[in-house]
Amino acid sequence: MSALGFTTKIVHSDHKLGLEAGAVHAPIHNSVPYGFSDVQGLIDVFQGQPGHAYARTSTPTLDALCQKIQKMDNGVATAVFSSGMSAIVATFLTLLKAGDHVICSRFLFGNTTSLLRTLEGYGIEITLVDATEIKEVEKALKQNTKMVFVETIANPVTQVSALAEIGDFCEKEELVYVVDNTITSSFLFDARAVKTSLIVTSLSKYVAGHGNAMGGSVTDTGLYNWENYPNIYEGYRKGDSKMWGISQIKKKGLRDMGACLSSQGAHLISIGSETMELRMQRQAVNAMALAELLEDHPKVAKVYYPGLASHPQHVRAKTLFNGFGALLSFDLIDDIDCCEFLNKLNLVISATHLGDNRTLALPVAPTIYFEMGLQLRQEMGISENMIRCSVGIENTADLIADFKQALA
Ligand SMILES: *Cc1c(COP(=O)(O)O)cnc(C)c1O
Repeated sequence: MSALGFTTKIVHSDHKLGLEAGAVHAPIHNSVPYGFSDVQGLIDVFQGQPGHAYARTSTPTLDALCQKIQKMDNGVATAVFSSGMSAIVATFLTLLKAGDHVICSRFLFGNTTSLLRTLEGYGIEITLVDATEIKEVEKALKQNTKMVFVETIANPVTQVSALAEIGDFCEKEELVYVVDNTITSSFLFDARAVKTSLIVTSLSKYVAGHGNAMGGSVTDTGLYNWENYPNIYEGYRKGDSKMWGISQIKKKGLRDMGACLSSQGAHLISIGSETMELRMQRQAVNAMALAELLEDHPKVAKVYYPGLASHPQHVRAKTLFNGFGALLSFDLIDDIDCCEFLNKLNLVISATHLGDNRTLALPVAPTIYFEMGLQLRQEMGISENMIRCSVGIENTADLIADFKQALA
């Protein structure tokens, strides 16, 4: 049988695990402890056999979500967390030690950039580079470099990292290659195809889609050889070496650090994930229509969207991605106040967040990049009059009409 399509795999992953009491939709398991009629069962779980003991580590509902994400990401194992940030924190804190060096994209989600400052306080060295240029990444290599961390399409300026070239570089230098695939998601971008070691995703965004649950995931693609990685603790250097990295992330990052996802949250994310392809296709159509409207409009100075031929990495995005996504930013011309413009939109809601079914927009400088200050904003290419849009699944004509009337 040929490989199943993206949505088929997700929609049928529950029943492939076995229908529980015939329930076509996997039930929600809220129990925190898991009991056994023979105590040997409990001992077995503690000693590494499959099964559940305590909800901080796993539940059947979390497993069902992990299965879906693992299939989407084409990985060998997935761990889920309470948020995208906790997945990122767990990855850094469990795989790095004081004295290690990490090469990171200069264009990262604001809270990730802020987290990097915290890691520096723990003695982890960070070099920020323009990850759209492979030469910049190569130049940052040091004796103690362990990891490269990049995003696919950066928020809010939409730079596209040199994902394939960085994959080759990490393979050659035996570095752990971590890709935050949130903005593209595994539907738009198969991160394994560019030799990614670990795929991190905020499930709160496109995967859930409905904006009613938070979560994060880390998937091991099975491509990194953990036998070469010095920071795997002796206790986890057992069994299949493909699993060493994710085992350490699960044991140290989830069990010990405790940022576990609830079964209720996991269930909501699972439901959302089933329609991800359908939503993202509509969102991409809407984003392209909006980008074209804005690019031609005299009141708009600049549009940032990888689907436009004018985007500096348009060709790269076209080659790597199965569509250009739904994150779009633009600068209004100087004499238009972006807050006044946002207040004129009727359908579009002024709100943070990405990947919602509704179109959301915000002024970038005074909100998500306020804490960074003017200088850092300028270094990141963020203008003071920039608006970021997370394009939703509304009917295209309605969305375009709303922007047209607000611009008029
Ligand atoms: C939102 C986001 C995160 C953090 O995810 P949360 O689920 O909000 O914690 C990380 N990376 C990127 C690229 C994001 O957009």
